Amino acid sequence: MTRQEFERHLLPLARRLNELLHARPFDPAPAHQVGEALVAAHCTDPDALSSTLGVIDSYLVLYCGRSGSPELSTEDSRARCARMQHALAGGFTLALRERTLTEQEAIARSALAARSQAEHALHATEARFRAVFKDAAIGIGIADLDGNILEVNDTLTRMFGGLEHHVRSHKVHEWVHPEDSPQVWKYYNELVRGEREHYHVEKPYFRNDGTVLWTNLTVSLLRDSEGRPEYQLALMEDTTERRLLNLRLRYEATHDALTGLPNRTLFFERLEKTLAAKNGTRFGLCYLDLDGFKAINDSLGHAAGDRLLVEVADRLQSCATAPGEMVARLGGDEFVALTTGPHTEDEVDELACRILGVLATPIRLDGRELTVRGSIGVVEGPAAGARTAAEVLRSADITMYRAKSAGGNRFELADAEADARAITRHGLTTALPAALDRGEFFIEYQPLVHLGDGSVHGAEALVRWCHPQHGVLGPDRFIPLAEHTGLIVPLGRWVLEESVRQANFWKERHSDGGPLRINVNLSPTQLHHPRLVAETVDVLERSGLEPGALCLEVTESALIGADDDLLKPLRQLAEMGVDIALDDFGTGYSNLANLRRLPVSVLKLDRSFTQGMQQHPADPVDLKIVEGIVSLAHSLGLAVTVEGVETGAQAEQLRQLGCDTAQGWYYARPGAPDRIHALLLADAV
Ligand code: C2E
Ligand code: MG
Ligand code: MG
Repeated sequence: MTRQEFERHLLPLARRLNELLHARPFDPAPAHQVGEALVAAHCTDPDALSSTLGVIDSYLVLYCGRSGSPELSTEDSRARCARMQHALAGGFTLALRERTLTEQEAIARSALAARSQAEHALHATEARFRAVFKDAAIGIGIADLDGNILEVNDTLTRMFGGLEHHVRSHKVHEWVHPEDSPQVWKYYNELVRGEREHYHVEKPYFRNDGTVLWTNLTVSLLRDSEGRPEYQLALMEDTTERRLLNLRLRYEATHDALTGLPNRTLFFERLEKTLAAKNGTRFGLCYLDLDGFKAINDSLGHAAGDRLLVEVADRLQSCATAPGEMVARLGGDEFVALTTGPHTEDEVDELACRILGVLATPIRLDGRELTVRGSIGVVEGPAAGARTAAEVLRSADITMYRAKSAGGNRFELADAEADARAITRHGLTTALPAALDRGEFFIEYQPLVHLGDGSVHGAEALVRWCHPQHGVLGPDRFIPLAEHTGLIVPLGRWVLEESVRQANFWKERHSDGGPLRINVNLSPTQLHHPRLVAETVDVLERSGLEPGALCLEVTESALIGADDDLLKPLRQLAEMGVDIALDDFGTGYSNLANLRRLPVSVLKLDRSFTQGMQQHPADPVDLKIVEGIVSLAHSLGLAVTVEGVETGAQAEQLRQLGCDTAQGWYYARPGAPDRIHALLLADAV
């Protein structure tokens, strides 16, 4: 209230007092109400009552005494005023007390209400927390910082086997497991010392029955209101099942389903780990491929083949039982055994011997005894070399092939040079098809000379490869590869076309000499090709060269055991007038009786005979053999050509022995076609 408002409020009260002062009969009691009214108007300041009483005492009688009732004496007025003051003070005090009480009560009541509300809320959160704790699908446990377990929820109890006292009988730090990662207990100690707020690990536990529980464990530090470490709270998720599943999946991904041996993946992991070793360890690797497994598979069926592989796997496993040794199946009939340690130089040889040894005992399959043999490529060396696992395995693979081509049932040791050769061979093989398309092949011609008069009788076409990186490569470097991949068919066709074209060109330029012949080599694969006859006829017809000017050279080895089917195309060609020469005669079986069956008209004696004649005096037995072959050939109607004539003496000797034609460096090395042309001209002169 402003001062004016307050005065307006007090004025009626003052009037009331004035009326009371003069009332008849006099009754001071209503002053009581004025006191109450003052309290009601909040005049409750500690000085308020005494000031009010002072004002009334000093001024009520002074200003109001006479005016209202002149008959009232001053003494009476004073007496009345005193009694009114008593009444007013009484009313005031009573009202003040009541008001104070009411206020206190209100405060108390609202305090009470507030407290019960807070308790209610607290209860609700606690109940919620309880529910979470109790029903959580995750295991929850609380322990003090000494590791005493204070509380665990049902899930956690169940994870440990279902009995709470089993969990409580432990202290947290007693739960050590041999597979604990090294950080687990370091983190734990940091946490209970208050140096870490939480940690998360994968941790195994032993249950009371000895089984293992795997968990994803998160532990947090709980601090009190002052921030001092108080409890540890563990949340754990049971990952045992998931882990088992993962282990099984991992096992399946890293093991061979048939034999149960580690597979290529696991083997590579192990080898890579071995090769990553820094210290002076060495490793030895045996790469085994069974000899002739395909034949067994094809003849006895795959089920039998599988059983054989299982038996082989078992035997191999028994060879590599020492620590650091492992056997794996890479696929098909390929296995590897790995050994690591400081002394693998000797150990790997022993391992390879053991493997060949266990394979030596025949395997019983379906009442049959099967002898299984294998070829092993062995790689040995310091682990910390610069080689990758793939390089090591490739070297072992290459070496295994070397063992195989040396006859199998043996082991060979890897050597860098042989590897390099094999790698180039591989490179060449893959480059062959493109080389033919790009025209990287060319032909050199080596003259064939009549021994009687030294005249040029024809030339042999010898193919070369002008390789962009390796330079000119001789046929020995790539013909076997072309044979192997089948590229020999188009390559051979090209050689035939090209040399027949060349022969025709010579014929046109050099019409006066006798018919000039062209010798072209045929490889075994070409012999089997169904279109051999048709294509040869086609080439001859298109060029216009008569069949009699063409001689196809076939090696003796290609015709060993040849049946009539294989000989048929050669017969057809021979009937057309094409000469067939038996190349390199004397290097194979030299089956003289066989000569009668073959549609050949020329025998080419291998260079090895000529070489035997280089000594002085020539080996008389060699001479007799050559003489015998020549006379036999002649009696069968075959002409004899000798290869590799390098000296005049040889030429003379061979002439005396009755050979018809010769070829060799003595006359000319293989060379460009125009050199033959020049020779022919010289001949003519
Ligand atoms: P081949 O048919 O026996 O050829 C004769 C080989 O002896 C040639 O080797 C030739 O250069 C070599 N030679 C010739 N005279 C002498 C001599 O006096 N001394 C010595 N030391 N060697 C001599 P080249 O050219 O390396 O050919 C090797 C083999 O490659 C040939 O043996 C032949 O079997 C094969 N070949 C060559 N060209 C072809 C072809 O176009 N197709 C097929 N399938 N094979 C071919
Ligand atoms: Mg030849
Ligand atoms: Mg030859």
